Amino acid sequence: MTNSQLLLAVILIQQGLFGAVWAVAARLGLSRRPARHWAAASGLVVAGMSLMLARGQASPWLTMALANALLLLSFVLLRRGLQIFGRLVPTDREHTMVMALAVAGVVGAVAVGNPVLPVVIVASIALGWTLLRSASEVRRSLESEFGRGPARWCALPGAVIGSLFVLRGSLAPLLGPEIAGPISDPGSGNVTMVIAALIFGLVINTMLFAMTIVRLVRRLQYQSDHDVLTDLLSRRAMERLLEAEAQRQRRFGTGYAVLSIDIDHFKQINDRWGHATGDAVLVQVAHALRDASREVDRVARTGGEEFCVLLPGVDKAGAERAAQRLLQAVRELEYRAAGPSLRVTVSIGLAIVGHEAEPLPALLRRLDQALYAAKHRGRDRVESAAPAAAG
Ligand code: GH3
Ligand code: MG
Ligand code: MG
Repeated sequence: MTNSQLLLAVILIQQGLFGAVWAVAARLGLSRRPARHWAAASGLVVAGMSLMLARGQASPWLTMALANALLLLSFVLLRRGLQIFGRLVPTDREHTMVMALAVAGVVGAVAVGNPVLPVVIVASIALGWTLLRSASEVRRSLESEFGRGPARWCALPGAVIGSLFVLRGSLAPLLGPEIAGPISDPGSGNVTMVIAALIFGLVINTMLFAMTIVRLVRRLQYQSDHDVLTDLLSRRAMERLLEAEAQRQRRFGTGYAVLSIDIDHFKQINDRWGHATGDAVLVQVAHALRDASREVDRVARTGGEEFCVLLPGVDKAGAERAAQRLLQAVRELEYRAAGPSLRVTVSIGLAIVGHEAEPLPALLRRLDQALYAAKHRGRDRVESAAPAAAG
């Protein structure tokens, strides 16, 4: 076995493994459709490279025409998978055109005889074009999700490898004899080609894995920080924010306020209009609270029909105004699901943290008492908590 053949065998094993990993990822529902494309792309690389290995022993129709068509199809599938991953509409007409032109070129060259040089030129330029177009799509489509810098890093492997392919295709007429031998031959530049292919496979698949994992981790983080029904922040996220705000207050002395909000007689709404209407009310109230809050305020759903709003940097008068605004926003809501006879109000407990630091449990106790007072004194109102005990 020559060095090139050994390396080609390593590529086949490498691509086979990548294909298997993507097939498993697709089954697990990890970027399902892109993963299926990438699994198929790896499978096609294995098929194409295996045919190339048989050059000299089998017909050039298989070892050149079919082998290059399979390789190009694998690159097209890689690109199509990336288009789906980036939520772009797959450019199937362009894919068909590139495939048709390249396959016509390769088939024509094999039919005429002495096909090595034209096949190398056509295949390299088609593969390079596909990668370069894909790189520019990746950069555009992932910028808003991953940020400008990371999106560029994701596009880099495709851009570099695509450029090398185009360069190879353009320089092929000058390199002539260097690339004329079968790819499995030792020397004649083929060892370099095969090592390059090994590195390309590794770099591109590592990039794809990184993108898939980053998207998964971000989605899990979002889900743990947000409430499924209303898309407001979750209780856990709000607890973290309150801890951070308390730390900022201790360090810089910046005051803040917290509102504890509870829908009045919500049980009766469920009982009279049904649970589905109850859910619709929760969503509308949640969005009204968010829309009536300032950009810097954070709104969370902390329990069934309970909400919490953090108002950084406000004084007592500002917090009271904000609470009244929220009260009014909920009063004015109309509920399509139940009609005009359904009126919903909330009660609000308000606590201010001024210059004195206060442990979170003590703040939450004061808030509870204020909310209880608002319920007790007739609901649909704001009650301020007693000032924090000096400590
Ligand atoms: P109060 O004015 O004293 O707050 O009375 P209330 O009826 O609002 O309070 P209570 O705590 O007795 O009832 C809250 C109800 O909220 C009970 C529960 O079935 C309902 N609930 C909790 N989570 C959900 C939810 O996700 N969807 C719906 N539809 N109802 C929920
Ligand atoms: Mg409640
Ligand atoms: Mg309630």
